[in-house]
Amino acid sequence: MPSTDRRTGALVRASAKLFDDACAVIPGGVNSPARAFASVGGTPRFITEAQGCWLTDADHNRYVDLVCSWGPMILGHAYPAVVDAVRAAAGAGLSFGAPTATETELAAEIIARVPAVEKVRLVNSGTEATMSALRLARGFTGRAKVVKFSGCYHGHVDALLADAGSGVATLALPASPGVTGATAADTIVLPYNDIAAVRAAFTEFGDQIAAVITEASPGNMGVVPPAPGFNAALRVITAQHGALLIIDEVMTGFRVSASGWYGLDPVDADLFTFGKVISGGLPAAAFGGRAEVMDRLAPLGPVYQAGTLSGNPVAVAAGLATLRAADADVYAALDAGADRLTAMLSEALTDAGVAHQIPRAGNMFSVFFTEEPVTDFAAAKASETWRFPAFFHALLDAGVYPPCSAFEAWFVSSALSDEAFERIAAALPAAARAAATTGEPKP
Ligand SMILES: *Cc1c(COP(=O)(O)O)cnc(C)c1O
Repeated sequence: MPSTDRRTGALVRASAKLFDDACAVIPGGVNSPARAFASVGGTPRFITEAQGCWLTDADHNRYVDLVCSWGPMILGHAYPAVVDAVRAAAGAGLSFGAPTATETELAAEIIARVPAVEKVRLVNSGTEATMSALRLARGFTGRAKVVKFSGCYHGHVDALLADAGSGVATLALPASPGVTGATAADTIVLPYNDIAAVRAAFTEFGDQIAAVITEASPGNMGVVPPAPGFNAALRVITAQHGALLIIDEVMTGFRVSASGWYGLDPVDADLFTFGKVISGGLPAAAFGGRAEVMDRLAPLGPVYQAGTLSGNPVAVAAGLATLRAADADVYAALDAGADRLTAMLSEALTDAGVAHQIPRAGNMFSVFFTEEPVTDFAAAKASETWRFPAFFHALLDAGVYPPCSAFEAWFVSSALSDEAFERIAAALPAAARAAATTGEPKP
């Protein structure tokens, strides 16, 4: 049985055993590919506990968490008000299959923060939210085609997996087998940040396009913010052609500001999708938008959408408690944490002579090893991603847990402490040197 990480020699005896056990019964040992360390190698750490900004693994190693469950945990782990709300909800019954008052409270909280949203439906995952928004857009317009952007990830919805980010990018999958040609045929994939390409697509297919879906500010090809005015231009073009605009805020929503990306770049989409932060760490997500569109959903309208556990009282309690705790001080702490961290990263990489870009979308950012600005997926893929595994493992071995792929965002929480920043500061020089000296793989 291996007792150390085969790549770096870190002590991971228990995680290695748990991973072997998992691989025997779970494909690849994980329930979501982004957790598998596929592009960085080594042993995925099995987490036993998390408090504040600290993760503890099965070997009792402690890490500063810069992934935050891929976004949701803005307050840090086991935040007392959230845990108390979950305990109280669980004690009152886990699921009823009948409406509860807290579902209305969560919907009202979302609407209060994002004025373009008039009605909300709760679902269980971001994937369900985008899948349902897409069906609703097609049902509302009576059209079939959808425009998405290369490198944007909207969950594992068949029609939206084409040229997607996140695990699809990390694993360099061209497209997913199992998505039929008929499904993908109605998806038009365009380069991100390219308004001329959007205009050209609408010139050719304008009366067949049901919707344009875009990440509010992409974080799944790494962080690649929209050029100023890009989302606003999408609004104008879709409206001219009677198509809907769907802005996917699953990652950015209620993280980058109290109103998500909408708070930084207010564009009134027809539909928005939310997840991650509004779940408080339990399975919950939502889609919402103009009442005229949302009221086409069953039972009012003909577009069917449903869920046995949708609006689950325990998940809703976690989301509501998280949003209620996320006040101006929390958002200021998230922004300050991201400022401090990106400055430290840039300084360490500069000192080690490693060319880098650290694009920001509010308090989200990622690290690309390149001198060129990264404005689309092609540029992200052209960066020196082969430097990332050495950088990642040097940080991990020093007790800092960054995302395990160059194509993912780094996520801060408001729980990052001075002790955590000291740990990061101590880890960075060697990690930057590792990024500098690692060899480019032979083609
Ligand atoms: C995470 C994510 C999704 C998918 O959400 P799941 O809850 O993983 O299904 C969709 N869109 C964006 C922008 C995301 O970041």
